[in-house]
Amino acid sequence: MKLCMIGTGYVGLVSGVCFSDLGNDVICVDRDNKKVKNLEKGIIPIYEPGLDELVLKNYKNNRLKFSTNLKESVSKSDIIFICVGTPTKKNGNGADLSQIYNVAKEVRSSIKKFKIIITKSTVPVTTGDEIEKIISQKVSKKLFSVVSNPEFLREGEAMRDFTYPDRIVIGTNNKKTNNILKNLYSPLISKGAKYINTSRRAAELIKYSSNAFLATKITFINEIANLCEKIDVNVEDISIGMGLDTRIGSRFLRAGPAYGGSCFPKDTKAIATTGDKFKTNLSVIKSVIKSNENRSSLLLKRIFEMLNGKIKNKKICFLGVTFKANTDDMRDSSSISMIPSLVKKGGKINYYDPTGEKNEFNKLKNVVFSQDIKTAIKDSDLIIIHTEWNEFKNINFKEHVKNKKFILFDMRNIYSPIKMKDKKINYIGIGC
Ligand code: NAD
Repeated sequence: MKLCMIGTGYVGLVSGVCFSDLGNDVICVDRDNKKVKNLEKGIIPIYEPGLDELVLKNYKNNRLKFSTNLKESVSKSDIIFICVGTPTKKNGNGADLSQIYNVAKEVRSSIKKFKIIITKSTVPVTTGDEIEKIISQKVSKKLFSVVSNPEFLREGEAMRDFTYPDRIVIGTNNKKTNNILKNLYSPLISKGAKYINTSRRAAELIKYSSNAFLATKITFINEIANLCEKIDVNVEDISIGMGLDTRIGSRFLRAGPAYGGSCFPKDTKAIATTGDKFKTNLSVIKSVIKSNENRSSLLLKRIFEMLNGKIKNKKICFLGVTFKANTDDMRDSSSISMIPSLVKKGGKINYYDPTGEKNEFNKLKNVVFSQDIKTAIKDSDLIIIHTEWNEFKNINFKEHVKNKKFILFDMRNIYSPIKMKDKKINYIGIGC
């Protein structure tokens, strides 16, 4: 099939490449000229394990193309996936859908024969209705069908998640469209993915409800961790004990820093706003947002206590600054608020991240990027494991820090408190 992905970010690039690998002809469009030029040279804009080889393979096979020309790419394609960003509005309320609606306006001038227009971006319920309205101002409804097909891939596992999804959700009432899309996804369905066809509005809401539920699960265990810290109980025991109940499940039940990333913070805010718009108080989600927003200040308070309130000139090392491992995505990572707060109090920060130096900290005084773990943790007063990268799981802290007393604050509970005690390391985990 001939596909066009509009927006070549985490979702558009990964799904475009994977679709091309399944034998489709795919054009990935982006308005960012530099990104497109780099992709044509084989330079991948994001860190995603396995992505570069697949891009190269399909680009060489001519099944995958990159372009900045949206109109021409849409004309050449039968199925158009909208994969642009839907960030939180500047005023903090709800999703900013300007990128989506701009694309809908651009697309409509290229529809001369039947096309399926799909939102893969995460959009609030009824956005599909609005896209349909915008396009139908210039194009007969017989010539297009607007579908919601939310994407559930996770950064860091994106290729695997796209190829082996738990489910494929197609929101459309149009039978012909549904058959075409079932056919498009048939290689994934035959590998075991469940395919569900719902109304367009239901598909839009499935995505937001799923993300809000996962954010709730994380926030729930983070609050239980706060209680554990007061009563000498290890939250890891609680996670295991709860997670073994198949009604609950162990995933997303690990205590840690505030949830971050490009999805949960913005999507929880957006669904709460949608609730308000339709006069429904989504009070659980609202309190999840509040609890998560408080979490970084709570952890900062713990850090102040660990250092007896004396942050000035203390050498503090962050291992990992992204919101999770196996991605370079810094959007809404808790390190973005924590590092500047510590600098403000006079702390001197060294950080190491396997995906390299981050622009977010470039302008901050007393924040230094180290090229390796050893250099980052040398002479530290406090080492904070912020992100759960595999390479942080077996560090000889004592050897690297040298002869200095230090505290290890393991925000991901990677290490065993008992083993750390045996090694005489001043170890503090989350919820223990
Ligand atoms: P992103 O910011 O990485 O990429 C969006 C791309 O769209 C950018 O490269 C931008 O230049 C491009 N773009 C914007 N307007 C354009 C236009 N008019 N024409 C051409 N290109 C345009 O975003 P992302 O992380 O891939 O997320 C995209 C959507 O998918 C969001 O709604 C997000 O919530 C959703 N989503 C993201 C993930 C994830 O893990 N990142 C997972 C599931 C769903």
